[in-house]
Amino acid sequence: MTATTDLRVVAAEGADRFADGPAADVIAWAAATFPGRLAVAASMQDGVLPHLASRFAPDADVLFLDTGYHFAETLQTRNEVAERYRLRVLDVAPAQTVAEQDAQYGARLHDRDPTLCCALRKTAPLDAALGRYDAWINGLRRVDAPTRADTPVVAYDEKRSMVKISPLAAWTDEDIDNYIFAHEVIVNPLIRQGYPSIGCAPCTRAVAPGADPRSGRWAGFDKTECGIHL
Ligand code: SF4
Repeated sequence: MTATTDLRVVAAEGADRFADGPAADVIAWAAATFPGRLAVAASMQDGVLPHLASRFAPDADVLFLDTGYHFAETLQTRNEVAERYRLRVLDVAPAQTVAEQDAQYGARLHDRDPTLCCALRKTAPLDAALGRYDAWINGLRRVDAPTRADTPVVAYDEKRSMVKISPLAAWTDEDIDNYIFAHEVIVNPLIRQGYPSIGCAPCTRAVAPGADPRSGRWAGFDKTECGIHL
């Protein structure tokens, strides 16, 4: 099933069926609907989505955007998730190494033009990797940011001509904490060190307790999203 019209129909059916459907049901539906053509994008902030995938879509490829700028703790989490949950985690790398990017654009592009840096190191590589699939699952949640408040559980991804599935869209922070506790899910150690939202190291800061979790991302810039979900 790769025809655009077919995927649009399937996305519409999924959207009707899972307006706020249980994450387990949505992921199981995706696994049954897109066998061999389903990817799960995991940021490795925590192992909730990979853990769910291991239970309900164990054959899906898990994509990790290896930007070259991750914290050591995030890479450690990626490795632990792959091993403990027995998932096929594929590292998605940018076209250029950090050194090659520095040579072309100058060092620390993230300090001068984070939108371009994210386009080169996140959006373009993910778009290219997702070209092999009919559907992708991601960890977007409505409570994460105002820009995500209307996130549907299932939608047609116009930009990539595929089905976009956000099984955690309706999950609250408490839902995440409860799942982690119930299943002893792997968590990025930085979470407990004041980093409630974790991206690349140069663009992520710890935030004060109670502050907007995403205020530590691209601090000093009028930027709240890397572009993957725009
Ligand atoms: Fe570059 Fe920062 Fe975006 Fe990572 S988060 S790709 S370092 S701008």
